[in-house]
Amino acid sequence: MPSQYFAIIPAAGSGSRFGAPLPKQYLTINGLPIIRHAIDALLADARIARVVVVLSPEDNDWHEGCLPTQSQDRVSVIRIGGATRAESVLNGISWLVKNSNVESKDWILVHDAARPCLTPVQIDALITSLSDDPVGGLLAIPVADTVKRADTAQRVEATVDRRSLWQAQTPQMFRLDLLQRALGAIDLAVATDESAAIEALGYAPKLVAGSLANLKVTYPADLSLATAIINSNAHNL
Ligand code: C5P
Repeated sequence: MPSQYFAIIPAAGSGSRFGAPLPKQYLTINGLPIIRHAIDALLADARIARVVVVLSPEDNDWHEGCLPTQSQDRVSVIRIGGATRAESVLNGISWLVKNSNVESKDWILVHDAARPCLTPVQIDALITSLSDDPVGGLLAIPVADTVKRADTAQRVEATVDRRSLWQAQTPQMFRLDLLQRALGAIDLAVATDESAAIEALGYAPKLVAGSLANLKVTYPADLSLATAIINSNAHNL
């Protein structure tokens, strides 16, 4: 049987860097919450059997408007987020194992709730590049700017050779058994993405060239940028 594809959106973070009273995934773009854009993007790929949204048990901000009007039967919203992103993803995987027909070799795409500009082209690039891959991988972009390492006084300590540097994005796509094993083994407090957990087991995830447009809304200025991307055709490229 061919591998199936499932998506998990960990959305149990507080988004403290943004500084808004509301977790950033609930801020709106064109009247729809950021997380709704992220869910819609994943649902647009028919290969994705189910999108699991992992909320914090204390989340008071999720509302009906976060759910898509189409394909609702492919979305599960579960309130079992953990203390860290890795724990939230791990809880989402355990839920899938108990509540769906997921198999150990099926692919799990983990996507940030705060990346609303993901396009079908980017998802297709990821799935197409990795379908036969023994490890899995992630969307990423080569670093374009010159990179500086700072000291504690915020002065330049060194210029870092950027030629081998990439910025990691999401989705990150790994087979269920490997991802579950990796997240189960890692120090949950230090893994800021799924790839780091896989790397810690000694594997080398593949970097699949994504797009700058797949930005993560982290700071207030990102919101207008994300709005402009969604409203332009550029995000379909
Ligand atoms: O803070 P950062 O932007 O890196 O968070 C990435 C993703 O992980 C967000 O979608 C956030 O909601 C999620 N997260 C989570 N559970 C936590 C912390 C973060 O699901 N305990």
